[in-house]
Amino acid sequence: MQIFQQYIGGEFSDGSTQFESLDPATGQPWAIMAEAGVADVNAAVDAAEDAFFAPDWADMTATARGKLLSRLADLVAENAPRLAEIETRDTGKIIRETSAQIAYVAEYFRYFAGLADKIEGAHLPIDKPDMEVWLRREPVGVIAAIVPWNSQLFLSAVKIGPALAAGCTVVLKASEEAPAPMLEFAEIFDQAGFPKGVLNVITGGPAAGAALTSHASVDHVAFTGGPETARHIVRNSAENLASTSLELGGKSPFIVFDDADIESAVNAQVSGIFAATGQSCVAGSRLLVQASIKDRFLARLKEKAEAVVIGAPDDMATEVGPLCTLRQRDNALDLIARSVEAGAKLVTGGAAIDRDGFFFPPTILDCSDAPDAPSLSNEFFGPVLSVVTFEDEAEAVRLANDTEFGLASGVFTQSLTRAHRMIRRIRSGIVWVNTYRAVSPIAPFGGHGLSGHGREGGLQAVLDYTKIKTVWLRTSDDPIPDPFVMR
Ligand code: NAD
Repeated sequence: MQIFQQYIGGEFSDGSTQFESLDPATGQPWAIMAEAGVADVNAAVDAAEDAFFAPDWADMTATARGKLLSRLADLVAENAPRLAEIETRDTGKIIRETSAQIAYVAEYFRYFAGLADKIEGAHLPIDKPDMEVWLRREPVGVIAAIVPWNSQLFLSAVKIGPALAAGCTVVLKASEEAPAPMLEFAEIFDQAGFPKGVLNVITGGPAAGAALTSHASVDHVAFTGGPETARHIVRNSAENLASTSLELGGKSPFIVFDDADIESAVNAQVSGIFAATGQSCVAGSRLLVQASIKDRFLARLKEKAEAVVIGAPDDMATEVGPLCTLRQRDNALDLIARSVEAGAKLVTGGAAIDRDGFFFPPTILDCSDAPDAPSLSNEFFGPVLSVVTFEDEAEAVRLANDTEFGLASGVFTQSLTRAHRMIRRIRSGIVWVNTYRAVSPIAPFGGHGLSGHGREGGLQAVLDYTKIKTVWLRTSDDPIPDPFVMR
């Protein structure tokens, strides 16, 4: 079995304990992973804190930081096939997607590399003639980055990239479900030439996560995961009043009007819920379809869902691979049973596939007569689509916003005026019109409500890893006037 080590202060080690990671395609162990105990977490935070103040990082010019990130981008691009292979093996995510996604991760690092020396302060036209006042943008400090198992390299790049561009240092805790891609990434990062301790990569579950996010030397926690974990993290970070950015789940509406290009909308819906085996925070898991086209749309969608190629994740022909964990597969069965009990009708799928590994087929539940079906409100990380109908635009908006989440949404219509009205009225951080699941380093990504707060991607992401220092400089040589009056 392959062995993966943690990365602390520029050194690789086994961690307090080790654990076996399962291959979701077979259900069997395939590699041994380092597991961080509290001592490892503390060592990683100490290393990040030392690195933050060490002159080789603290005094490095922003241009030099950008060049290092650029080198990292090149290394990620060169090693993309191997990283993709490892992510596929550990998470079950199909190689078709991991290959494309990791090649694109390199572009994220390139984007943030370019921003490093464009982080500007400001000079203020202050209302006092003998003062110069300006703002410096300084790095926030030590960042605790916590990621879930799906799209881990991608979700880590949108934290590590802007944090290092801004001059912060990072302790990244990979997911205990599938840490291999991040431990392999640490090996690549090590070759880029950053000072030791600027990035530290550890593993472990809730205990390691709690020790990290409540550590007194952590200045900011950047978290991606579920809302329940986020509540723990906010409570933990309250210990030292660290700030947080939270990228959480969703129950995103996918809205199809009767004037939409049906074939294009069906394809986008397939991508929105069955790609990545539905294990995507932006999954379009609630289909809202105009009643007049429901039968036509569902018939075509069912046809496509049943034609999906289910298979080994490392086969380029596979379109839907296994779920990441056995627990996820059991959750799918439970959610479907409870939804059917609430009146939902199974259109296709719904039963586990009889083969080794954690496979589950594309599933469609017609919830038109089951408004209380749990599949309509519970975020479920899998290929399960819940369908409801609407009569008009007002009802579509009401149903779309009938959720505690607010991450993404999709609108399919040929009407430009309607598209604009929908964009304004839907409460979500991202609206895709006549497309779905498009991302870019240049475009901010994030949500509202139970989907969290903060944005990743775009210029703002780098600014969020900076804090403002206000500098006052007196230009007069005269003695300071009345010292008992605030100036
Ligand atoms: P999770 O919340 O169970 O775990 C995420 C991470 O938090 C893991 O690394 C885990 O070890 C850590 N953790 C668990 N308990 C902790 C604690 N008490 N303190 C600190 N850290 C702790 O999520 P998951 O099941 O791995 O991933 C699925 C979730 O992630 C879904 O809700 C999904 O929507 C969300 N997600 C969101 C986005 C986004 O960008 N908005 C992207 C991908 C996934």
